[in-house]
Amino acid sequence: MNPDKYLEIKKECESSGAKLIAVSKTKPVEDLQALYDLGHRDFGENKVQEMEDKKDHLPQDLRWHMIGHLQRNKVKYIAPYVHLIHGVDSLRLLKEINKQAKKVERRIPVLLQMHIAEESSKFGLDRDELEEVLSYLESETPSGVDVSGMMGMATFTENSDQIKREFTGLAKLFGEIKADTRLNGHNFETLSMGMSGDYKIALDCGSNMVRVGSLIFGARN
Ligand SMILES: *Cc1c(COP(=O)(O)O)cnc(C)c1O
Repeated sequence: MNPDKYLEIKKECESSGAKLIAVSKTKPVEDLQALYDLGHRDFGENKVQEMEDKKDHLPQDLRWHMIGHLQRNKVKYIAPYVHLIHGVDSLRLLKEINKQAKKVERRIPVLLQMHIAEESSKFGLDRDELEEVLSYLESETPSGVDVSGMMGMATFTENSDQIKREFTGLAKLFGEIKADTRLNGHNFETLSMGMSGDYKIALDCGSNMVRVGSLIFGARN
């Protein structure tokens, strides 16, 4: 864990009005504890099992962000405590989160993951699927989910113009969808975009939540 780098990124986020999520996947609980001791509370993991394992060894007021692709059959494990689910990439997943949230009498904040990368490998909703989600919110008014914004991952490339294009596109969509009356009753405020390699571009493009791992914790194996 690199405290100086952490403080530097935290400062940059604060001056942009963005929240920093420390992505701790593959890192030992000692590393998370060290960051916690610096006052950090928001941590991102991409695997349910790993989040479950770590949770029991760390303070209870730590806020867990599920940032990875989430399988429907695993939602039930994290429903009681997860702080924010970033990667809602299908209506079926959203419905399952709603169901499991109601079982534990929660309203779980979620972000709609949009497919913005030019590469085809990344998960995410396209515009038609987004429409389906919005129609569902209007017709079913699911009480177990708070659709709190959007998330996106840019193409993994050195080409900063391309990254900028993809983030700008998402920020524009976010602004448009925010005004959609079908989101009434939801706190649609969060735009989660930016990782170690592209968080500065993301902040310039209007991100208000970045997910940074390797710059803070060091490279993963
Ligand atoms: C791993 C991961 C990150 C952080 O990646 P770094 O490049 O280490 O900052 C951010 N978002 C998601 C969805 C991830 O899976």
